[in-house]
Amino acid sequence: MTGSGTMWRCVVAKVMRAWVVSEPRLITQSPLTLVERPVPIPARGEVLVRVRVCGVCRTDLHLAEGALPPRRASVVPGHEVVGEVVQLGDGASRFGVGDRVGIAWLRYTCGACRWCRSGRENLCPESRYTGWDADGGYAELAVVPEGFAYRVPTSFADAQAAPLLCAGIIGYRSLLRTQLPPGGRLGIYGFGASAHLTAQVAIAQGAEVHVLTRGQAARELALQLGAASVGGPFDQAPVPLDAAIIFAPAGELVPLALESLGAGGTLVLAGIHMSDIPALDYRRHLFRERSVRSVTSNTRGDGEAFLVLAQRLSVQVTTTTVPFERADLALRDLAAGRVRGAAVLTLAT
Ligand SMILES: [Zn+2]
Ligand SMILES: [Zn+2]
Repeated sequence: MTGSGTMWRCVVAKVMRAWVVSEPRLITQSPLTLVERPVPIPARGEVLVRVRVCGVCRTDLHLAEGALPPRRASVVPGHEVVGEVVQLGDGASRFGVGDRVGIAWLRYTCGACRWCRSGRENLCPESRYTGWDADGGYAELAVVPEGFAYRVPTSFADAQAAPLLCAGIIGYRSLLRTQLPPGGRLGIYGFGASAHLTAQVAIAQGAEVHVLTRGQAARELALQLGAASVGGPFDQAPVPLDAAIIFAPAGELVPLALESLGAGGTLVLAGIHMSDIPALDYRRHLFRERSVRSVTSNTRGDGEAFLVLAQRLSVQVTTTTVPFERADLALRDLAAGRVRGAAVLTLAT
């Protein structure tokens, strides 16, 4: 840093600390390592962001453990970043230095394929992702193409805003995919970061929400947020459901959730990874026009719409903050189901 004057903002260190997936393996075997890395240089159209917080998502765990195959050696995970723009790449003009921005999962689509041209850029075969194809936010600084960054709603503090960027947006898309009728009955399996945000949106829109999850703390949080009932993940829902969303990465829940649906009901699978789904019985699980749908990432339109809605509904974000230096332990806690709400890494500035 220079001694004085107005140039200090332009001075960015050359080296930073970052967590990398050194070798994918079980989280209990420490797949993440804290290293020093050169600070990334923003390419054309990109901005460099000083990370203030980064949410911990289950996808980070899947990457660390190799359930999602690595696309880049020693990648820095993390795709729920809230930070401050500190440098603009050539041609970047959407944000100014000092602006608060969010970096999320989706970071590139081609803009030209049939999916991109029909409002479904989440299905673009060229799509790329933060913390998988490119380094993410478990670091002191990160770059992002400006067109894929978000303005963060002012009503949320940094740590509260971070989980909105993946848990919130993907949960919102999952809710849209249920096509839940007005006042409908929605089952939610698993009640972590994404589910606790999605439940609030559904309830605010008039849905009757039934939560089926392990863990007493998660069930208490669900009731506090307005769930009509809570139960264990293997319980039958108390009423026939119009739709259900499975947030837990557990394929064995699929037949159970299908049996809890009424005629014409829709089951949505929200995760990027799921363990094997047992064989289904046509009559018990699918007949009477029940259907199963997956969710693949999100469009930027989903993201913008959800952030506006989250602010308008004053969505309450329950977080457990963890110092940046303990990112590996935060992932262990997530794997063990010990996190209340969403874990968020905080960086001292
Ligand atoms: Zn495309
Ligand atoms: Zn995520």
